Parts: sequence; structure tokens; C-alpha cells
Amino acid sequence: IDARIDTADQDERAAEAALRPKGLDEFVGQPKVRDQLSLVLRAAQARGRAPDHVLLSGPPGLGKTTLAMIIAHELGTGLRVTSGPAIQHAGDLAAILSSLEEGEVLFIDEIHRMARAAEEMLYVAMEDFRVDVIVGKGPGATAIPLDIPPFTLVGATTRSGLLPAPLRDRFGFTGHLDFYSDEDLAVVLRRSAALLGVTAAEEGLTEIAGRSRGTPRVANRLLRRVRDYAQVRGDGRIDLAAARTALGIYEVDELGLDRLDRAVLTMLCTRFGGGPVGLGTLAVSVGEEPDTVETVAEPYLVREGLIARTPRGRVATAAAWAHLGLTAPG
Ligand code: ATP
Repeated sequence: IDARIDTADQDERAAEAALRPKGLDEFVGQPKVRDQLSLVLRAAQARGRAPDHVLLSGPPGLGKTTLAMIIAHELGTGLRVTSGPAIQHAGDLAAILSSLEEGEVLFIDEIHRMARAAEEMLYVAMEDFRVDVIVGKGPGATAIPLDIPPFTLVGATTRSGLLPAPLRDRFGFTGHLDFYSDEDLAVVLRRSAALLGVTAAEEGLTEIAGRSRGTPRVANRLLRRVRDYAQVRGDGRIDLAAARTALGIYEVDELGLDRLDRAVLTMLCTRFGGGPVGLGTLAVSVGEEPDTVETVAEPYLVREGLIARTPRGRVATAAAWAHLGLTAPG
């Protein structure tokens, strides 16, 4: 069973990779970040130097990994990819840093989850392009400084507020990615449909865009599911009817809320009478970490006006009760 899940996961990832924009001009939406980043890259290229380190923050699936790849592509350099959870010892990071080549881009996803000891090493590497390798143990241990070639660090985090200030301050540029408008998602979908070779009517794509949670990753995934439906039960074309029926089969609601979003909202209304309730209590009731509820589910629910954050806790809005088909307590 495990092997099968693995394969399914790999398939999804391969499908995602195939739809990734390669250059900055193909990256849809986020005009502010795109413009700022373009300036940082062009200026560095004009000076013939590696650009400042870049921090990208925002909810999952909005294009942080894609932007890291685009940065390397635009600079014409190599990209090394790792993640915070994979760096549990300073040695893990030392090995990566010392093998970097001049001008390479190092992408660290979920950088806020890196081990503390590695963080200190990263500060020095970012600022002085140096790694202090500790040789020996106890009182006889010595630090041997090792110069590393200039590189550009691209860090990604779901919340830049989780980063210690000394780390945050060492990034020359921070880009905040926000949820995409339905119009931008429709553009992402049109491009993806063309790459996948499926015929799609504008209304079909608009319907998928509206249920994609403001997230390109979700949009591309739903597009593949609607394509499955159209191929098996229809004439292969994605039109409004096909999109509606397929999304109904996969139980994607009109707002595109996913399982966690719906669980949070339902708990908030049914168990806590609409709140206010503290984040920790709410998270326990849906069986998730508070951090996950706060960085993955909440941003979208807040944006859609379904929940509000108050000093006393989370509160369901009238729209939330209406969306769940429940009557708010008088
Ligand atoms: P996570 O942090 O969860 O890894 P992420 O923010 O790094 O997520 P990506 O993996 O970069 O997200 O993007 C997810 C998918 O969405 C990719 O397959 C990519 O093709 C698509 N995508 C993201 N942003 C854009 C965009 N602006 N234009 C077109 N496609 C995009």
C-alpha cells in the first residue's frame, strides 16, 4: 500500500513540476513581488554579483518553490534544494554550504523549522560567506574557518513572523505572496490546460478558478480531476457542465474549502457556538497543530470573511453559518 501511495504522490509531484512556469514573465499574478524581484535580479546581474538573499513568505501552494526555481533560471545558475526539517544538525548544513558552487541558489523550504545550531551557522554563511567547521570535541575543539563561494539563499516560510529576527534581518529582500484572484487563477488554468493539451471553455476554467482557494496548486489539481471526468464521462472537453459535475463528485464546495478548512469552521460553529475560542483549543478539536491551523487554514478563512480573529479568540461570522447551512444562535 505504501508503495502505491508513494507512486501516487510522485505522480502528483511530476504533474505539478510539468506545469511550473520557468521564467519570471510566465509567473502569473503577484505583480508586486514579481516587479520587486525583477529589480533585485537585474541589478545584481548588472553588477555581476550574486543578488541579496531572498525570503518568500505566504501560505502553501502559492508559488514559493516555483519562484526559487525561477530565480536560479533567470540568473542562469544552479539550484540546490533542501528544507528546514532536513537540517537537524549544523553538520547537515555545513555539508551543503561547503559543496555550493559560485553564484548558486540555495533554496531552503520551511526555513523556520531548521535546528537552532544550524541557524547560527547560516547567519555567518549568509553574511561573510564562511563556515566554521568544528574539529575535535570538548576543550580541545577548534573552529576552522572555511571560505565558501558567494551564493544566494532563498528561504521560504509560511509565516515570516516565526523567524528569529537575526535571521530575518539577513535577507536583503522579503516577498509576501498573497492568495490569487479568481481572474489570475483562470490565467494559470488556461496556461495549464494548453500544456496538458485539453480543450477548455472559458466558463469551465472560471468555475474551477472560483473553487481553487486562491491557490495555483489547488487550481492545477482540480483541473486534472475535471480533465479525468471529461475524458471518462464526457467528450474530453472542459466546459461549465463538466467542471460543475466533476467538482461535485470530488466534493469541492463553491468556496473551495478543503477538509481542514471545513473541519475548523464546523467545529467553531457546532462545538463552540461560533466562538470566541482560542487557537489552541480549536486546533485540538480538529486534531491538528495550532501552527497548521494558523498558517494553513486560517489565512484563507479570514480572507473569505468566514472567521474573524479577535483578542478573545476566533469567531465565526454570519457568512460562516450561512455557508454551513446552519442557523447562528440568536
Ligand atoms: P509549498 O510551500 O507548499 O511548497 P509553494 O508555495 O512552494 O508551496 P509551488 O510548489 O511553487 O508552491 O507551486 C505549486 C504549483 O502551483 C506549481 O505546480 C506551479 O506550477 C503552480 N504555480 C504557483 N504559482 C504560480 C504562478 N504564479 N503562475 C503559474 N503557476 C503557478
